[in-house]
Amino acid sequence: MALLSRSLDSLLITAATVMAGLIAAPIAAAQQFGQQPIDPSLTVAIASPVRDGAFYNLMILQQVPNQRQCWQEQEAGGGPVVVDPLLLNFDFTGACDRSTDGNGYSVRVNGQDLGVQYRLEVSRRQNDLVLFASPTRDRSAPPIEIGRTNGRTDGFLKIQLNPGWQMTRRTYNGQPVGHIYLTHDAPLDVRFAAGTAPALSQATPARPSTPPSAPSAPATSPSVPIAQTQPIPTPPPPASGTTTTGNYFRVIVPITSGDTLQQVRAVEPEAFRTTVDGQAVVQVGLFRERQRADEVYTALVAASLPAKVVAASAPAVASTPVIPSIPQGAVVVVIDPGHGGRDPGAVGIGGLQEKQINTAISNRVQQQLQAAGITVLTTRSSDVYVGLDARSEYANQAGANLFVSIHANAISMDRPDINGLETYYYSSGERLARSIHASVLRNTDLGDRGVRTARFYVLRNTSMPSVLVETGFVTGATDAARFRNPTAVNQIADGIARGILNYLGR
Ligand SMILES: [Zn+2]
Repeated sequence: MALLSRSLDSLLITAATVMAGLIAAPIAAAQQFGQQPIDPSLTVAIASPVRDGAFYNLMILQQVPNQRQCWQEQEAGGGPVVVDPLLLNFDFTGACDRSTDGNGYSVRVNGQDLGVQYRLEVSRRQNDLVLFASPTRDRSAPPIEIGRTNGRTDGFLKIQLNPGWQMTRRTYNGQPVGHIYLTHDAPLDVRFAAGTAPALSQATPARPSTPPSAPSAPATSPSVPIAQTQPIPTPPPPASGTTTTGNYFRVIVPITSGDTLQQVRAVEPEAFRTTVDGQAVVQVGLFRERQRADEVYTALVAASLPAKVVAASAPAVASTPVIPSIPQGAVVVVIDPGHGGRDPGAVGIGGLQEKQINTAISNRVQQQLQAAGITVLTTRSSDVYVGLDARSEYANQAGANLFVSIHANAISMDRPDINGLETYYYSSGERLARSIHASVLRNTDLGDRGVRTARFYVLRNTSMPSVLVETGFVTGATDAARFRNPTAVNQIADGIARGILNYLGR
């Protein structure tokens, strides 16, 4: 039987079969999304080197017509095309759009979003950099090759898309949004699957195949055939310079001053103080995948923080939320109460703990949305520690329509004068952020500290519009008093819920 054959021809057919199984299944998140064409001369996919080429990220640039030039390509005779991303040198707002992760781009095949099932990544294959859609759920499914650089040299390299692939723009309820699809408009077939041959031919011996993750799979999860003996391509090697003996990767910043925690929290609000090997550190995250740890590491280093990635064993107390069954066609909102368990979040005036505020607000938001007929999932429903990757992966795997993370802010016990609401988004969440922010301001007397952008992990790694609300300062005199008043806390929650419902047109 073809699925059990190890011959290359059969394997390629298997790739098409697996994809066909995925595409035929309904995918909750995809239903309101459409696509519209983009002028190919106004967009470019780039392999973007990280840490001198230790690994590569996918970066997609778009040029707004008749505006300042966003990039320049150096023609080369048949070899790789080096791209100079000119936009890195100027404020490109209004002239260029830049997408650097799963919030900004995803895969779409034959009219179906596959952003939940596949993530885009650039991997080295011999003397080439290859853009793959790699399976996120069914790790035994083959990656799909989308394009390659046709050689490797220093710098930013243009990814030439394989025949049949193009970039299109996502539309939501018919309106274009700032999210790019790597799009294949025909159903996948053997000709297309043949693009994976170079990767598959390098495969290592098969590792044991795991069955689909039944306990945590959502009800809408497509059933995917598993080829039991299919070889699996080698994952990209981890970046050099750190140990890889543990199962997990811990990102930490040693505490060097009284400001370290707040400086780290400006990059990643889930960060908390702990001790590693007897040293006081701020733990920024604990990740199963090296690449995810490296993303956070890169953001911290860019903020001039002395971050480190260290090997770690699996967390003993981390909780992985389980996705319940989701009614077909439901609008799904994931509410993410920040912190929990051994991580209290920020601690403010009178020992006020952020995690308790986040829980109270999240519970009330959940009730209000459910009363309006929305299906609400939460990343934690009790006082447990949940990792950042588990939070965003949960929303992705549930095929959620929206993701809203609830936090409370802190600055310094010496600044009780700083109070107010801040609402964050990264790429596709701007309209949701503005809706929530305006609604909370209408419903409370919170000060307005603005709608802002930030590269927070849960915002960058969720594939739907996502927002993080800092509902006030536990270190602020007026906000801390508000957090101690259950009626006022409910008003914040009701404002968030109303903002979500307004966004959804409910
Ligand atoms: Zn927080």
